[in-house]
Amino acid sequence: MSPFSRLALVATLFATAFVCAAPVSPSQSGPSLQKRSAANVIYQCTIPGTIAITFDDGPFLYTNGLLDILKSRNVKATFFMNGQNYGNINDFAASVKRVYDEGHQIGHHTWDHQDLTALSSADALAEMTKLEDAFKNILGVRPRYMRPPFGSVNAAVLEMLGERNYTTAVVWDTDTMDWSHPTDFQASYSVYESLLNNTDGINQPGHIVLEHEVNQVTALQLAPMAIDLALIKGYKVVTVGECLGDPQANWYTV
Ligand SMILES: [Zn+2]
Repeated sequence: MSPFSRLALVATLFATAFVCAAPVSPSQSGPSLQKRSAANVIYQCTIPGTIAITFDDGPFLYTNGLLDILKSRNVKATFFMNGQNYGNINDFAASVKRVYDEGHQIGHHTWDHQDLTALSSADALAEMTKLEDAFKNILGVRPRYMRPPFGSVNAAVLEMLGERNYTTAVVWDTDTMDWSHPTDFQASYSVYESLLNNTDGINQPGHIVLEHEVNQVTALQLAPMAIDLALIKGYKVVTVGECLGDPQANWYTV
């Protein structure tokens, strides 16, 4: 084989290898060939000195009272909402709108609080789209942050979320366990005390705390005490997006 022929063969092999290595997916049959990356799972804030208190499973009867408390302290929080759980989201549409209008962050928490990893892909998709439609009707947008019920995710769920333009699956680093002692807010408050009394912590990545706004004691008694303690200790009480340094423009999509 002449040197020229050998070069041509190498070039052909290289071109063949390059073509074979190009990503091929039957799901990329639409006009865009750019595949979205899977959603990220996060457990903590990245900005030191922040605390993102998250209120799950609403909207419900105490959402407005909680909003009054947040407003009185001039702080922001994050609400991971269901479509049908303790209440139906359409019955509390005005509260949902108020959460949004007052600058808090709203995230998706599935239509009726399902473990997405236990569902078929079609059922998991329906859990997402049904609530997305409700958000779009009420707010005109839908969230790009979500909290998987039970903190339960796997690779397939994260890929599905990414394809639906979600950036972030939010778990938590601190659990108040408020659901397990629904009338004893002191037990949940002691979780905050343990977390925040270590003042060295303010120089570390911030905390994402799990609690539930559907619990009256959590929404109206624990929340103000926890916020006041965090502020006294020098923390900034912010949304999950803000504690990650993610601009508000990235929290929602149409
Ligand atoms: Zn939940």
